Amino acid sequence: MVIDYGGTKIEGILLNENGDQIDRKRYSYEKNYISGIETVKKLVSEFDNISGEICTVGFGIPGFSSKETGLVTNANSLWLNDKPFKTDLEAALNRKVRLMNDANCFTLSEAVDGAGKNFKSVFGVIIGTGFGGALSYKKEIIEGANQIAGDWGHQPLPYPTDDEIKTQINCPSMNCGRALCSEQFMSGIGFANIFNKKNNTNFNSYEIVELDRQGDPRANLEFNLYEDRMARLIAVMIGIFDPEAIILGGGMSNVERLYKNISVLIPKYTFSNQVKTKILKNVHGDSSGVRGAAWLWNLN
Ligand SMILES: [Zn+2]
Repeated sequence: MVIDYGGTKIEGILLNENGDQIDRKRYSYEKNYISGIETVKKLVSEFDNISGEICTVGFGIPGFSSKETGLVTNANSLWLNDKPFKTDLEAALNRKVRLMNDANCFTLSEAVDGAGKNFKSVFGVIIGTGFGGALSYKKEIIEGANQIAGDWGHQPLPYPTDDEIKTQINCPSMNCGRALCSEQFMSGIGFANIFNKKNNTNFNSYEIVELDRQGDPRANLEFNLYEDRMARLIAVMIGIFDPEAIILGGGMSNVERLYKNISVLIPKYTFSNQVKTKILKNVHGDSSGVRGAAWLWNLN
């Protein structure tokens, strides 16, 4: 089975050997470490009962499980950080488990048989409550020396404008804590924060998308700025990895105007007279994380 350990919900899918879905369950849990483990335990025991055997378990988690120390780092679900999550899960579930970062799961799923299936090099981007990414080459994840290749969420926003500098938005100190951190501008929550601060409103990102559809000039302006920021970030990534396809996932990936507009803006910032990089919407939607985790037991 595969489990997607999210910030508010834990979702599991029971698959047979051919990868067909047998069952699917989703539970909310208290935002703490123990509640997360207890919820996983309940889910796994239900799936064991349904299948009549001790299942293998692959996990997508919102962070990295360090190969050296076994501790979780860089998790958006902060209660996971510095915890020996893999060891604790193996003790609780009484079996070996495999863990992978959720952006890696998403990217692998899309690279293998999703929007990136016809491309050798793929950069997967998740834009939801956080802002992350992962790199894939020839249908494998490039982990990197520090296991954070492609995890661009806490890099500085490139070519910041005077207005962006003046926002004085810092990443929270329990995260990277730095000024002009990209996540504060690019995540769904970050996007809504900037809009609300500027317009003295209190909308979430979905409501701002709806305002834009209705022709609200404030929402249109903020999306123009958002698209330009994304183009700058992508131009830097093209300068380093130059992927054939960039695949967007997470809540903001449902904003259709991004695909057309970002592609037009990228050449303003790249050191190349033509940009062939495709900006694509994911194919597997919310299932990508959990599908990618299934590949964990097909690897090696
Ligand atoms: Zn940050």
